[in-house]
Amino acid sequence: MRNRYSRYGTALAALLLVLCLFPACGREPVVKTVLVMDTVAQLTARDGEAAAAVDEGIERLQYLDACAGTGAEGDAARLAAAAGDGTWVDITPEVYEMLKVARDWAARTDGAFDVTMGPLVALWGIGTDHARVPDAVEIEDARSRVGWQDLELAPDAPRARLKRPGMSIDLGGIAKGYALDDVRAIFERHGVKDGMISLGGSSLCVLGKNEHGEDWRIGIRQPRGETAQDYLAVLPLTDAALSSSGDYERYFEQDGRRYHHILDPHTGAPAASGLYGVTVVVRGAHAGMTGDLLTTALFVLGEEKGRALLEGTGTDADVLFVAPDPARPGACLLSAFSPDGAPPLPERLQKQAGNVRWE
Ligand code: AMP
Ligand code: MG
Repeated sequence: MRNRYSRYGTALAALLLVLCLFPACGREPVVKTVLVMDTVAQLTARDGEAAAAVDEGIERLQYLDACAGTGAEGDAARLAAAAGDGTWVDITPEVYEMLKVARDWAARTDGAFDVTMGPLVALWGIGTDHARVPDAVEIEDARSRVGWQDLELAPDAPRARLKRPGMSIDLGGIAKGYALDDVRAIFERHGVKDGMISLGGSSLCVLGKNEHGEDWRIGIRQPRGETAQDYLAVLPLTDAALSSSGDYERYFEQDGRRYHHILDPHTGAPAASGLYGVTVVVRGAHAGMTGDLLTTALFVLGEEKGRALLEGTGTDADVLFVAPDPARPGACLLSAFSPDGAPPLPERLQKQAGNVRWE
């Protein structure tokens, strides 16, 4: 008898072991990494049809790259080719949606976020192998061909036109965010409960929990860190989109000056608002797109005008402004904006680096 019991005991222990392991096995995430939208995209999904969700997500990113990117077949190239000749250009519904939202935010930000920045972005070429500092005449010429008021959108169909010759759009400040929302919807349709969609780390969206059943832990970059893994702090996050913009993402240096990729439409030069960077957390519908364009806009506006924008528009976003600390070279001064009722961001950040100070 004792033997039989011990055999049952062993079988029961084995069964329990299998039962304990099985859910863990079933919860192994599917992770895929691809180069798309000019960045490294990593899609992680668990539960539901995780593999199908990730594959469809990647296809979607590639499709959006083709419509919203700078390729010859993309909507931007076709709009630029017809600029000034009065004809309406059929564009994809996705780019039409981005342009509508971009135009609303251009109006709200007094043009600090301007999707018709194409001529200036091309002139500076930051992030390409022909990046250079243009002269004042060139800047003025490009600037004269920028202006969101001259982007016309047909009210009833996905069609657009640029009023003046030489105009062009650039969706670099909004397309990744739009893509996050689209891929998140794909994940949700496939029953994915836990997942992350990361587009280069600077625009990402998280669903549910990480592999330890905890909130995802997102590192916020130290803007003067030696590597992209050098963090100012770690933010636990669930069901939200996070976006960062800063002067450390794409830049070159000349004569001791840094020229980065976020341009001020009013000066035609890299924005000089006194910030190293901005990080925004947004929840709910269109969280990815709102977060993406907001970081770019806030970086151009700077902290003071940025806070006024957030208050004036009632935008439900947590914002972290990161600036150089005037008292300590190389160190950072942080300040946060949280929507009414939300626990303040500084209380939620973990593992804060030593060389930062809160304002
Ligand atoms: P992000 O890294 O999200 O801040 O987006 C920066 C990208 O947006 C740049 O690489 C440009 O393609 C584009 N961009 C630069 N300046 C502006 C601006 N003032 N408004 C809208 N888009 C911009
Ligand atoms: Mg952005």
